[in-house]
Amino acid sequence: MKKLFAERIEGLAQSDIRRMSLECARVNGINLGQGICDQPIEPIIKQAAIQAIREDRSIYTRLDGIDELRQRIARKVREYNGIPCDPNGEVIVNVGSTGSFVTACLAFINPGDEVILFSPFYGYHLNILKVCQASLKYVTLRPPDWSYDAQALEAVFSGKTKFILVNTPSNPCGKVFTRDELTHIADLCVKHDSLCVTDEIYEYILYDGRRHVSPGSLPGMADRTITISGFSKTYAMTGWRLGYTIAPRPFAEKLAILNDLINVCAPSPLQHGVVAAFDLPESYYTDMRRDYQVKRDMTVEACRAAGMTPYPPQGAYYMLADFSEIGFKDDQEAARVILERSGVAVIPGSSFYPDPKDGRRQIRLCYAKKMHDLEEACRRIRALKTVLA
Ligand code: GLN
Repeated sequence: MKKLFAERIEGLAQSDIRRMSLECARVNGINLGQGICDQPIEPIIKQAAIQAIREDRSIYTRLDGIDELRQRIARKVREYNGIPCDPNGEVIVNVGSTGSFVTACLAFINPGDEVILFSPFYGYHLNILKVCQASLKYVTLRPPDWSYDAQALEAVFSGKTKFILVNTPSNPCGKVFTRDELTHIADLCVKHDSLCVTDEIYEYILYDGRRHVSPGSLPGMADRTITISGFSKTYAMTGWRLGYTIAPRPFAEKLAILNDLINVCAPSPLQHGVVAAFDLPESYYTDMRRDYQVKRDMTVEACRAAGMTPYPPQGAYYMLADFSEIGFKDDQEAARVILERSGVAVIPGSSFYPDPKDGRRQIRLCYAKKMHDLEEACRRIRALKTVLA
């Protein structure tokens, strides 16, 4: 029979992130797998969206998003990220930051083009790059602090590098790239005339007083950086699917056209609703950080009590933990048994590495949960020590 599927989707399968959510629902467990983020949305944002629906703000918007939203995003990008940004021509509102990343990959990658990716990575980044038939070059982040070897990065960079993908704070390991590291990356981009695509969706979730640095704010980078962020994580609206791209004008023009082709526009009433997010006080962000830091520390403690070696994240809301001491055969078995015995879903570590062997002794836990649920999940994780004994 004729080969029906395109080569670009060869090997593509449902992600472990999605699979574990289904399995968790089946046993009515507590989902520390998929980064769902089930906090309530701030009432002023909900009100604004409800009002937009009532007022029939329900037709297509401009291909790059409504004026007011682009203006508020541009101001935030100038002030928080330190990136020069014109709301007319340098901001595109997308369907989720995943939608932003898809347009960037389609815009820049020809089959075989080289892209540098840090490992462990977010599987959706990897798979979108694969669908675009990029030739991938990996650089290893090493626990416990997830630093990388400067020479290893220099060795994979060349004139053939189309872009390097930065994800800071990072999913799944919670690395927050330092200014020095990003300056090193920026120097390499300039030297090899490469782009930097940077996914900063967790930019407000930082621990222990860390500061977020955007590659696009560094000298020489404004013209070669595609900055991706969104509202999902910061405002707990992962299902609203609202993200955005910041890019220099000539790039943004093409990215906006691709956004139009793929989605026409992001959901119109939700764009109107999310404008209200920019009216939230500074305390919203400080409270969120403090809250997640407490949850991180609880999860770290629970994993240690169970006999695992967790790697406390510097940002975002995921943690990788090594379970070698507990004695599961591999990460798939670990995720299966933990769900079976304790009703807590986690993600097998191999989903985050180019060579599955590197994640064979790890699981990823997401602690973006309501306090009550996380407390129960932590209690069950601690109890694993005796359950498995
Ligand atoms: N970013 C989230 C995660 O890593 C969820 C996104 C998704 O379901 N693809 O779990």
